[in-house]
Amino acid sequence: MPLAERVMAGGSGLPITPRPAVVRGWGRIGPAAVSRVVPGDVEAARLAILRLPSNLGGWGRGAIARGMGRSYGDAAQRHGGVVIDASALAAFELDAVRGRVRAQAGVTLGRLLAALEPAGWVLPVVPGTQHVSVGGAIAADIHGKNHAAAGTFGAHVDSLELLTADGEVRQLTAGNDAELLGATIGGMGLTGVIVSASIRLRPLASPMLSVVAERLI
Ligand SMILES: Cc1cc2nc3c(=O)[nH]c(=O)nc-3n(C[C@H](O)[C@H](O)[C@H](O)COP(=O)(O)OP(=O)(O)OC[C@H]3O[C@@H](n4cnc5c(N)ncnc54)[C@H](O)[C@@H]3O)c2cc1C
Repeated sequence: MPLAERVMAGGSGLPITPRPAVVRGWGRIGPAAVSRVVPGDVEAARLAILRLPSNLGGWGRGAIARGMGRSYGDAAQRHGGVVIDASALAAFELDAVRGRVRAQAGVTLGRLLAALEPAGWVLPVVPGTQHVSVGGAIAADIHGKNHAAAGTFGAHVDSLELLTADGEVRQLTAGNDAELLGATIGGMGLTGVIVSASIRLRPLASPMLSVVAERLI
């Protein structure tokens, strides 16, 4: 049966259809022919993990999570294998009193920043592009221009939900499986699929910047 005709039922009741796709990184080199699934919720992602790649015959070369594909190289692709595209896991919830946001892995930092600013909060680490996902930010443990003072993105993650290869969704915190939490932050997707995370925010006094321009020549 052609790959695109294999349809699996997702947790939402909607079918998850693995689709042949060619994916690249931001550098546009080394395209990979993959089977791409885009689960719409956690249960669908769990089924995708459990049923792929063993149900896909020749496509069974393992699986890797993918966010917005903004890695420069080939980190988010698996030639001849499966890409679990987290972009449809796109819900988030702001606790404006405690300064926390709980976001699903596919939410982009740009969406979060737009929602946080009116509430007086900002992400503690912001990279050179807003078009990266929460999952990609954690998996690559990204840095911003305030790296020396704030550390990396992962330093501000209180907890995360990780879907591992056995189909379990694990709640990871510093007090609950700290080793797996540490391996997942900066783990480049190799410990499983990050489903969601809780991130500590920084208060934002004002969205305005005070800028002093000094001309040197
Ligand atoms: C213009 C530009 C500017 C940049 N500036 C910076 C910068 O200032 N600082 C910096 O640190 N980086 C920077 N980056 C790099 C970028 O932040 C990282 O590559 C980031 O990981 C991309 O996120 P993504 O959602 O696109 O992830 P992808 O590229 O899709 O994936 C990156 C890695 O994360 C894994 N991954 C993605 N989603 C999940 C998930 N749900 N669960 C588990 N693993 C997952 C993938 O398997 C892969 O290994 C920049 C990139 C660009 C294009």
